[in-house]
Amino acid sequence: MKRKNILTLILAGFFLIIVVLVIVLKDNNPLPEYNDEVTDSVAVVPPPKAPLYGLEIDTLIVFNGEVKSGDSFGKLAGEAGLPTSAIYNIAAKIEAVFDVRKIKAGNRFTLLKGENSQTPSFFVYEESLLEYYVVSLKDSVYALKGERLKTIKEKHVYGVISSSLSQTLNNHTLTNKLSGIYAWTIDFFRIQKGDSIAVIYDEIFIDDSIYAGVGEIKAVRFKHYGNDYYAFNYTDPSGESEFYDETGKSLRKAFLKAPLEYSRISSRFTMRRFHPVQKRWKAHLGTDYAAPRGTPILSTADGVIEKAGYTSGNGNYVKVRHNSVYSTQYLHMSRIASVSKKGNRVRQGDVIGYVGSTGLATGPHVCYRFWKNGKQIDPFGEKLPDANPIKEEYKEAFMAYIKDPMARLNDE
Ligand SMILES: [Zn+2]
Repeated sequence: MKRKNILTLILAGFFLIIVVLVIVLKDNNPLPEYNDEVTDSVAVVPPPKAPLYGLEIDTLIVFNGEVKSGDSFGKLAGEAGLPTSAIYNIAAKIEAVFDVRKIKAGNRFTLLKGENSQTPSFFVYEESLLEYYVVSLKDSVYALKGERLKTIKEKHVYGVISSSLSQTLNNHTLTNKLSGIYAWTIDFFRIQKGDSIAVIYDEIFIDDSIYAGVGEIKAVRFKHYGNDYYAFNYTDPSGESEFYDETGKSLRKAFLKAPLEYSRISSRFTMRRFHPVQKRWKAHLGTDYAAPRGTPILSTADGVIEKAGYTSGNGNYVKVRHNSVYSTQYLHMSRIASVSKKGNRVRQGDVIGYVGSTGLATGPHVCYRFWKNGKQIDPFGEKLPDANPIKEEYKEAFMAYIKDPMARLNDE
């Protein structure tokens, strides 16, 4: 269809030229006299190069490269001809804006050099597709952070789940964000065939063409076991953003459903199970989540670190006190995060340690223990407190706001 249109356009164009020619030729005006004089040939001036990273690069030679493992600012600048003493001074001078030790292998860099110069004038480091640092290496040494022009395009996707959410959406970041939004509402390991999802979200592009990732998720409709679970991203007039359902209830709970972003329950809370290490029947007062070693463990609610240490049974563990009623405990960590020091405050979702198999454990997992009034309980059997719903004074504005996205989500 597109190709046909283009062809039609070209044909129409030709036709127009012929018509114009016929008119011109029919014109009675004499043709201009033929001028035999040789005119000066016009010098071919290359068009000015478009600025790069905000720099005028007409007189500069550009070298592009990728930071390899073992590369540093010093090494790259040194190889480009900058003396070691200068490198040291520059790094120190720009540290507040750009810490050159943060250069990572795999990222792009650019060196710009004057045509007759032995040493480079600028070093540019691309921190991400969107952000970069420009370091002026000569005369006045400085560094500044730049951001490429980004455009945001709203996208609407719909899919019926056949095996998993990630396979249906085929977008890792989007899947991650959605599993975060629905962390308490939907068990992603119990998604069934025929569940469906509709999402309205933003995609970020650089210079209108280069895909740079998922932006804000605006509205979601998750059909799960025949029920609709809506999520509307709403910023209230006081500037607070949150995901709410269609009645204005927060999708967040006081507690996350699991202490890992992606997790599989390998053993549930039970008064009787065969202990895999001790080889005897005993109560299991926790929920085990199997995950690869090193997976971040998240505090499931806001709180204060009550204990962080090691015992032969628990291995490395952290206990968080949330209020006078609830505490949670996380066992078998490979490593305790530095924030997990007794007395430190943590927020829901903060990384407090990493999955391991220290203590009495057969494989990498986190044993999640839930304490209520000093007794260990099964959080899945509890009605746990909700996070705050939309404030009453914003309820009307919220209900008006969700009308349009809701209609669009229901369109599927
Ligand atoms: Zn356990």
